[in-house]
Amino acid sequence: MEDQRRMSARRKIIAGNWKMFKDARETSIFCESLRAVYKPDPRFEMVVCPPFTSISAAVYALAGTDIAVGGQNCGWETEGAFTGEVSPRMLLTSGCKYVILGHSERRQYFSESDQLIGKKVQLALSLGLLPIVCLGEKIDEREAGKTEEVVGRQFDGAFHSVDRTGFDKCVIAYEPVWAIGTGKTATPEMAEEVHRFIRGRSASRFGAESASEIRILYGGSMKPTNSGELLAEADIDGGLIGGASLDVGSFVEIAASAPRR
Ligand code: PEP
Repeated sequence: MEDQRRMSARRKIIAGNWKMFKDARETSIFCESLRAVYKPDPRFEMVVCPPFTSISAAVYALAGTDIAVGGQNCGWETEGAFTGEVSPRMLLTSGCKYVILGHSERRQYFSESDQLIGKKVQLALSLGLLPIVCLGEKIDEREAGKTEEVVGRQFDGAFHSVDRTGFDKCVIAYEPVWAIGTGKTATPEMAEEVHRFIRGRSASRFGAESASEIRILYGGSMKPTNSGELLAEADIDGGLIGGASLDVGSFVEIAASAPRR
């Protein structure tokens, strides 16, 4: 009973990671179509994470709705001589509620370390921007039986300097790297196993109550044909969606597939 109460208290998050797609004009068109079909639903919160240059177009087009906007990354300082970087304060004052941190593409192409991600998480939280922290193993790591070791290490790095109050504001996204943009999805059982592991790690570090409330999203080729069964798992609290979030119809269908508990 208590478990059920906690589970339903975790409102799902359906977040779109647009990566380097959609300029400001395309963003306005997308967000206007989204707002035309969107109906607020207690089952889920929708979030769109456009490229930096499209954030203000999204914020403007979604004003007055409860669809949130997030950044896809941020710098590790509030301001300064960091050519090309955007600070979490700038995201916040541009209207963002969330920021994706530690995405595997940032780790892979921009050499982001666990330690750097930890610094960004801490700074974002200190300013009031809510991190969506991505964790996930590569295929060779899974095949070598190292999924928990890798995800555990990433967890510890990301939350190294975070206290319980900060942790309670975070969202985690489990994204197996081998499933991102590949069309290969983790089965609901595979995903649930790692989500359970992450919840356990959260309990050991921050206590049972925080662990039962933290939202853990799944990401990796989620689409309308597989979202229903993934979102039905007890420890999967939403999706971080790349490719399928670029189309209003599939993004909304994924959200609508969230179970009624
Ligand atoms: C992502 O980029 O976070 C992602 C999950 O991408 P896709 O849904 O395209 O696999």
